[in-house]
Amino acid sequence: MTDELKFDVIVVGGGHAGTEAASASARSGANTALVTHKRDTIGVMSCNPAIGGLGKGHLVREIDALDGLMGRVADKGGIQFRLLNRKKGPAVRGPRTQADRKLYREAMQVEVQNIPNLTIVEASVEDIQIDGSDRVSGVILGNGDILSCGAVVLTTGTFLRGLIHIGEKMIPAGRMGEDPSTGLSGTLERFGFSLARLKTGTPPRLDTRTIDWDGMDKQAADDVPVPFSSLTKEITNPQIECGITRTNSATHKIIRDNVEKSAMYSGQIDGVGPRYCPSIEDKIVKFGERDGHQVFIEPEGLDDINVYPNGISTSLPESVQHAYVATIPGLENAKILQPGYAIEYDHVDPRELLPSLETRKIGGFFLAGQINGTTGYEEAGAQGLVAGLNAARLVGGKEPVFFSRTNSYIGVMIDDLVTRGVSEPYRMFTSRAEYRLSLRADNADERLTPIGLDLGIISKDRETWFRNRQEAHDRGRSLLKSLSMTPNEASKAGLKVNEDGIRRSAYDLLSYNDIDLQRLTDIWPELAEIDPQAREFLEIEAGYAVYLARQQADAELVRKDENRQIPAEFSFEDLPGLSKELQQKLIKVKPTNLGQASRIDGMTPAALTLILAHISKIRNSNADNEGKMAI
Ligand code: FAD
Repeated sequence: MTDELKFDVIVVGGGHAGTEAASASARSGANTALVTHKRDTIGVMSCNPAIGGLGKGHLVREIDALDGLMGRVADKGGIQFRLLNRKKGPAVRGPRTQADRKLYREAMQVEVQNIPNLTIVEASVEDIQIDGSDRVSGVILGNGDILSCGAVVLTTGTFLRGLIHIGEKMIPAGRMGEDPSTGLSGTLERFGFSLARLKTGTPPRLDTRTIDWDGMDKQAADDVPVPFSSLTKEITNPQIECGITRTNSATHKIIRDNVEKSAMYSGQIDGVGPRYCPSIEDKIVKFGERDGHQVFIEPEGLDDINVYPNGISTSLPESVQHAYVATIPGLENAKILQPGYAIEYDHVDPRELLPSLETRKIGGFFLAGQINGTTGYEEAGAQGLVAGLNAARLVGGKEPVFFSRTNSYIGVMIDDLVTRGVSEPYRMFTSRAEYRLSLRADNADERLTPIGLDLGIISKDRETWFRNRQEAHDRGRSLLKSLSMTPNEASKAGLKVNEDGIRRSAYDLLSYNDIDLQRLTDIWPELAEIDPQAREFLEIEAGYAVYLARQQADAELVRKDENRQIPAEFSFEDLPGLSKELQQKLIKVKPTNLGQASRIDGMTPAALTLILAHISKIRNSNADNEGKMAI
């Protein structure tokens, strides 16, 4: 075998998980190959041309804080930046941009091509090779070539036995116009993985030239676009407006009259779809009493004639799609360029995974993205980063890295997946995170870049930027804490605070809802010296300080439990005193630490105490044995 055919890590799939996995692996120093069907489909957005949103935007900011690709690529492809929930608290604000499909894909391809240590191989992977000790040793390509490696990250998205449904029509495909991946499903079954079917759907694409844009309300981009990446200085793409329209009783009647022709309702589809992204027929059947559903009319690019009508994904026959689209104001004459469709695909039960995203069954075999039962580019990208990083660490003989619910949405998602599994496509929401106040989009760099620096995956440019930012925060914080006043002085300055005689610093005063940094700068002009970039950050931090302290104390307890590792030899079968039901759940999830065990459905304090006692027993017995061996 030639040297070119040997790699440390092979990533299969050039979608959102695959590109982040390849980048994280190569940044960790591993000689990496990205094997994907087609070079020019790297970074393709299979469905809606948008990145971010509530919860999802947090994930993109976290990927960026760890020097991943998605944030800066979205900044290059973004054509309508909006900060969602701007009027709500900073913890639940979600950065989002609509993207120009072509610009996004091109920017991703440029990023990937410029990664040192990374070779792109255009091929289909048909099988995975393992050695005698159940460790991955390579991948087998469609032409029979073998690429050998120390670890594989599988990120095949919706391609595993993908099947498109349009009414009664069924087309085997990974997404429209691309062949499915069938060999690998067989491989996974042969390895004994538990596979299940999920489904997702997409709306018909419309021709912009046939839409009556004047007859619709408009949604504009933010006046000042907020980039995803901390390293982006400016958004240079022109920003566009989207249209907003609504379905109505005529639309609903057509859908209701034809609902049995929908692949979803005819019994043709077995897979479960995303509850939070329902098809239009689902909306009509489940929320039939509503008089209309909003449809966002989103151009797919600056010079693209395709328009994505967000809100009407469907698996109805094409003729019915034509009929109902024509009932929607502004779309009366809209030409359909590509019909909407549903797609069913295989996924692996994510409880088969360790929190590093390595499978429990096969050493060096990692899974990331839609294959783990998630939906969305951001969820896929975040998992890709973790899997690629850990694959490279494994090959380099280093300990795996686990992200925690207390430090990131990445940690929340992975813990949810590996502990609870999925019964429907999993998407991120801010409500999934217990420590929302500390896991904000605006402080992703503070939370994660130091971890990335320790892991050696952060570029020099980002490191310099981050250290400068930290210094600006520290200087601003010290200045705010060095200035103070009594309630009397505050009252004279027009500030309402409790008359308790306690002297408060400018930092403390920022915790009052009606006191902001501008107001304090009028009192203490030297506060104008605080770096403009640090002002908003410190305002939020000081405003939340009391709650953050409480949350940090709670998070500390979780971290303590997470540090209590459950040894690999721990056998839940042999643990007396556990109910049968809990015992079965523990055997299925195989928690790797006490924190994870505590989050299993139905877990009780008594059962946790039992587990803890058993961990100590194993530890003591191991220590005794080590002592004996030393003698
Ligand atoms: P993908 O982006 O699918 O990438 C998989 C990559 O693997 C592709 O490059 C493919 O060519 C490659 N590949 C597959 N098999 C092989 C092989 N054997 N050998 C080599 N290469 C291989 N998400 C939402 O959040 N909301 C939605 O409403 C939504 N609707 C969707 C509708 C449709 C029709 C589809 C197809 C997807 C939809 N998605 C939606 C999902 C979203 O596209 C995915 O979550 C996201 O793309 C997953 O990223 P990924 O990297 O896991 O996989």
